[in-house]
Amino acid sequence: MSAPPHPILAFAPGLARRPRIELTDRPTAIEQLPAFGSRVWVKREDRVSSVYGGNKVRRWEWLLGEARARGATEVMTVGGLGSSQVTSVAVHAGAAGFKVSAVLFDQLESAFVSEALELDARAGAAVSAVGGIARAVLSTTRRLGRHRGDPSLYFIAPGASGPVANVAYVDCALEIGEQVAAGIAPRPDRVVVACGSGGTAVGLSIGFAMLGWPTVVTAVRITDLVASNALTLGAMAFATTRLLRREGFTGRRLRPRFEIDHRFIGRGYGYATPEAERGARRFAELFGVAGEVTYSGKALAALEVAVTEHPGETILWINTLSTTGRLATLRS
Ligand SMILES: *Cc1c(COP(=O)(O)O)cnc(C)c1O
Repeated sequence: MSAPPHPILAFAPGLARRPRIELTDRPTAIEQLPAFGSRVWVKREDRVSSVYGGNKVRRWEWLLGEARARGATEVMTVGGLGSSQVTSVAVHAGAAGFKVSAVLFDQLESAFVSEALELDARAGAAVSAVGGIARAVLSTTRRLGRHRGDPSLYFIAPGASGPVANVAYVDCALEIGEQVAAGIAPRPDRVVVACGSGGTAVGLSIGFAMLGWPTVVTAVRITDLVASNALTLGAMAFATTRLLRREGFTGRRLRPRFEIDHRFIGRGYGYATPEAERGARRFAELFGVAGEVTYSGKALAALEVAVTEHPGETILWINTLSTTGRLATLRS
């Protein structure tokens, strides 16, 4: 499927020289979410690819393009046992012809985790479950050390955020800008999105600032405070903006607006809370595919609260969890 040009290229033309692999069906739809009220909408990033959607795919266009241009033949990544980032790498890097390997650390067992492992295996990824996070770090560091300076191995860190990757969600915000200009949906006052490594929330907030919108991004923290806080997100916003400047963005000084909502994390990454369980059930009702408690369950719980705390605001929820390429056995 041939997608329209990336709107970011009109703002930062130097990015056109960066290698990319086309993987996305753009633009993704924006739809109303009447179950949450008349002013609530959803951006269907869950369907950004018919093979396996979710919010990592736009990133792979840039990162896998870079990997291929560097001559990589293998992509290696790290994540929890049920990581959708790992599954997304397995599916998309695998289809693009890369060998895929993944180091997995423990995560609470659930039907969603089993599904992720099954999808990783079907995609042909070589996964090794090594135990806790510390072991995963050790094992990854050792392997990367052995391959230092070897361009055949391309590494994707957990979460996969970073200046180049974040361009993907700056681009998505500009895509939303085009959809609003076309009258498809109203301009959101607020965007609510799950926040792990932060690239999605940060990228969107930069894109809205480029549009001159006052839109606030509510970044719903679903991982540890050390990984996801005002400082890490602020530093990433700075580095991403610097990349855009280097690639030719000449607009005025940007003031990306994001707020981190810390209230839904519960005991930590991957742990359920009653609100997240309820969010996961609602996800299944709304989108027809099983939900999960790590990302979308917590982000939907946060959406519900945001709607009551900000009456009168137009709110856009970003559906970051794939509803394509999932296993039929998990359909609700
Ligand atoms: C990775 C991921 C997120 C978090 O995105 P970040 O850009 O890392 O903050 C949210 N939801 C799902 C389903 C994800 O896989």
